[in-house]
Amino acid sequence: MTADTLSSPAQLRLLDLQAADTFLAQQAHRRSTLPEIAAIAERDERGATVHNAIVDTETRISDIAGEQRRLENEVEAVRTRAARDEQRLQVGGLPAKDLTGLQHEITTLARRQSTLEDELLEVMEQREEADTALAQLVSQRHVLDSERSELATSRDAVFAEIDAAAAERSIERDAIAAELPEDLLALYERAREHGGGVGAAVLRQRRCEGCRIELSGSELASVRRAGPDEVVRCDNCRRVLVRTAESGL
Ligand SMILES: [Zn+2]
Repeated sequence: MTADTLSSPAQLRLLDLQAADTFLAQQAHRRSTLPEIAAIAERDERGATVHNAIVDTETRISDIAGEQRRLENEVEAVRTRAARDEQRLQVGGLPAKDLTGLQHEITTLARRQSTLEDELLEVMEQREEADTALAQLVSQRHVLDSERSELATSRDAVFAEIDAAAAERSIERDAIAAELPEDLLALYERAREHGGGVGAAVLRQRRCEGCRIELSGSELASVRRAGPDEVVRCDNCRRVLVRTAESGL
């Protein structure tokens, strides 16, 4: 093991760049997979369902109210007619034929009023049920809104924390990248793109830390022959292999 077998300082610096990139990728992943995001989407979905149910129930209440008014008007008309008939009966002096007709009408009107009042009662029960359902839905919406609001606050706090950490590390990352030779940086970027975010890996105890494959004898011999400035890449994963004192060369 001699100093000759170590990678150049620029290549060693790639490891700092890689650490910064890995950190940034982890933060981006954490940001996009925050449990709050899924929880908010779930509340939004339920909120939309509750909203539709509220609209449906309000429409139903409006229909019931219309039906109730119609029945009330009809009951009122029947009552008025019956009262008028009763009055005519009280006044008296009607021919026998008219009297029979009037009595028949009064009976019919009473039956009709009874039927209408039963219908009205039923409609009022429906209204009560619909009002109860609406109150429950509105309360559900309130709970969902408040849960969503809490989740959004929590999400935004984590976003702020992640963004601050990422912004700080990005500055460091850019400073490191600016130090590096352009061709080395370009090679690293290409390897990182193909290597799932990892472009440079340490050669540790003859093993590529990128893909965990141990280098063969001939590969090791070739790595040992390489000068410090020469860029060595893993034959298996094509990542830049950085040689350190722990490489086992
Ligand atoms: Zn490898």
